[in-house]
Amino acid sequence: MRPATVSIREVGPRDGFQNEPEVIPTASKIELIDALARTGLRRLEVTSFVRADVIPQLADAAEVLAGISVPEEVAVSVLIPNERGLESALEQRERIDEINVFLSASETHNRKNVNRSIDESLAGLERVLGRAREAGLRCEGVISTSFGCPYEGYVPPERVLEIAARLRDFGAQEIGFGDTTGMANPAQVGVFFALARETLGEQVELTAHFHNTRGAGLANAFAAWQAGVSSFESSFGELGGCPVPAGATGNVASEDLVSMLHEMGVQTGIDLDALISCARRAQEILGRPLGSHTLVAGPVDWH
Ligand code: ZN
Repeated sequence: MRPATVSIREVGPRDGFQNEPEVIPTASKIELIDALARTGLRRLEVTSFVRADVIPQLADAAEVLAGISVPEEVAVSVLIPNERGLESALEQRERIDEINVFLSASETHNRKNVNRSIDESLAGLERVLGRAREAGLRCEGVISTSFGCPYEGYVPPERVLEIAARLRDFGAQEIGFGDTTGMANPAQVGVFFALARETLGEQVELTAHFHNTRGAGLANAFAAWQAGVSSFESSFGELGGCPVPAGATGNVASEDLVSMLHEMGVQTGIDLDALISCARRAQEILGRPLGSHTLVAGPVDWH
């Protein structure tokens, strides 16, 4: 039930960099991604093929992808908003291992984020996932506001899992459940993932993606792990957010998650010191203190 080994996808270069007020220079992004790829992380989300006028922070997606040098064993993923984004990504097919697509579990958040109804999003994603699978890409479908919506409040788990089942049927091998604005609590998370496993079956990988907006990110990760989840997404330095609503804050810090898991005896394959160095470098580049605790305190030292 409780996994002895956990896989972490670092999403800071996408979830994090896209939500910084300033545009980070391409060379700095490449430097940070190359360093992250050498920490023992096996999954790295590096950018998103979104429209430059919508998210100028990631307008250099093609340059970033062409510029990074990532070891063979690290799976590179990019976020794909729509069919046009997939076209751009496929131009660099040989540099990409995975894509992830996303929509929200609540109509209002989906409408505000991508200006579509959930049904319209699903219709588009069916085409994107079909084409991506044909191109041999591994696919993750991420469902935002899976644990609550800032506009609609309660989101029924049955509704979330109905969307998840559709994404699975369209070809997604992995479903990510995002607590986009940090509304989840650990009791809810435990019940949710037990139900998700029961509903979606054993073939699809279930991934937990928590934001630390109200400080419950690690507690939620622990609850998910206890419920059998062995795949997580997090951001070094506690970077991250969401375009809507304003003020949505960072993911669980990868180094906080890794520190907690290692202290519990759970393997991640990640070198915590190397990861902390990446967060420290990001802090220098961004010129502001980041939210990660382990970045400040350092790893636990038992002497
Ligand atoms: Zn996120």
